[in-house]
Amino acid sequence: MANQVKYVLQESEMPRQWYNIVPDLPSPPPPPLHPGTREPVGPDDLAPLFPAELIMQEVSPERHIPIPEPVLDVYRLWRPTPLLRARRLEKDLGTPARIYYKYEGVSPAGSHKPNTAVPQAYYNAAAGVSRLTTETGAGQWGTALSFACALFGIDLTVWMVRSSYDQKPYRRTLMETYGATVHPSPSQVTNAGRAVLAEHPDSTGSLGIAISEAVEMAAADPAARYSLGSVLNHVLMHQTIIGEEALRQLEQAGDAPDVIVGCTGGGSNFGGLACPFLREKLAGRMNPVIRAVEPAACPSFTRGTYAYDFGDTAGLTPLLKMHTLGHEFIPDPIHAGGLRYHGMSPLLSHIYELGLIEAVAKPQSECFAAGLRFARTEGIVPAPEPTHAVAACIEEALRCKESGEEKVILTALCGHGLLDLAAYSDYLSGQMRDLDLSDDAIAAALRGLPAAV
Ligand SMILES: *Cc1c(COP(=O)(O)O)cnc(C)c1O
Repeated sequence: MANQVKYVLQESEMPRQWYNIVPDLPSPPPPPLHPGTREPVGPDDLAPLFPAELIMQEVSPERHIPIPEPVLDVYRLWRPTPLLRARRLEKDLGTPARIYYKYEGVSPAGSHKPNTAVPQAYYNAAAGVSRLTTETGAGQWGTALSFACALFGIDLTVWMVRSSYDQKPYRRTLMETYGATVHPSPSQVTNAGRAVLAEHPDSTGSLGIAISEAVEMAAADPAARYSLGSVLNHVLMHQTIIGEEALRQLEQAGDAPDVIVGCTGGGSNFGGLACPFLREKLAGRMNPVIRAVEPAACPSFTRGTYAYDFGDTAGLTPLLKMHTLGHEFIPDPIHAGGLRYHGMSPLLSHIYELGLIEAVAKPQSECFAAGLRFARTEGIVPAPEPTHAVAACIEEALRCKESGEEKVILTALCGHGLLDLAAYSDYLSGQMRDLDLSDDAIAAALRGLPAAV
């Protein structure tokens, strides 16, 4: 069909396995280390935080992990998700490029996050865990986990980054609607939160601080575990259902990608889309350029350093080898709250070091301009995070216009922005600012890295 825009899979075609890229890489990523001994962490070290099944997935050498039937059953509420061709955006740009987006905003929570929230809640419930703690930046992860915990009968407490708590009141209401308890972070509820507030009473918070609070509370309660919405290997693996579906849908469309772009906070939607395509690339079956897009205000790939660092601000987590701006780095309160993380997935950091992916950083005004253009042509209002990916798609498509190349561009539109309209309102009223991030600010935060391992 010449004008086809939508590529859908039948329920029966939904992938039954997640993909673990580790065994297909030329070398494995460096292991997480215990902050005291500096030895690789073992399952026992992680048991206070995660159920055994997720710990096994985190270090699994298996290429494929079967998706449990109760998880598939919940996935069926919104999966398979559609792949769309952005024909109107292409026309508006006057580009010969073909732009495809995998739309994850059709989930109940409005983003890709339920792809991992559901299995994490399932494995915890199966292990007899009755309480979970977590952090949330923009509120997408907190929403997704609240939804998943409601389905599996788990009590959830969420620490929500202060700047988002203030910017996005409806996100909090949504989490509470699903039954979760929500604290702004930093909070007076934890040692980590109180320590930050003592020094910075007006702290806008960060994902690193919120993680400290959630980890502290889970570690203190034997009936509770902790759940992370990005960064870790098992999270990226759960998200590969995005890329596995997209591979089949692009095949339906008769296309293969030349360029894959995705926004990166901790790397899960990007990794989920890109890893199955990277497998195909490593096997010589296709050769896409794979490009991560991060905010200029929090550029862990492009201006961070590759080193062992804590995943949280208080230094409670294992040491992760990753691209980091330093665990003490507090990004400006940009609207893409989900991208305000000081570090990057260790797996993607390793893949970046191997030269298999590239990265660019974009200021938020360029991203919102792209988000508006997308809304006015394709109809969907993107969440502030994927506007970074849309901006990179538009940049690539305009390059194609110059050169006349008919490239195939693929991205994940990983969430809708209907609960982020305060950000659009700021942009539309001309109040959005791009703040420069100085080399000095980065250097200062990097001085707080743990001593070299
Ligand atoms: C959480 C979130 C992100 C950032 O997290 P990743 O793990 O990098 O995907 C991006 N977009 C949306 C819509 C999110 O909810």
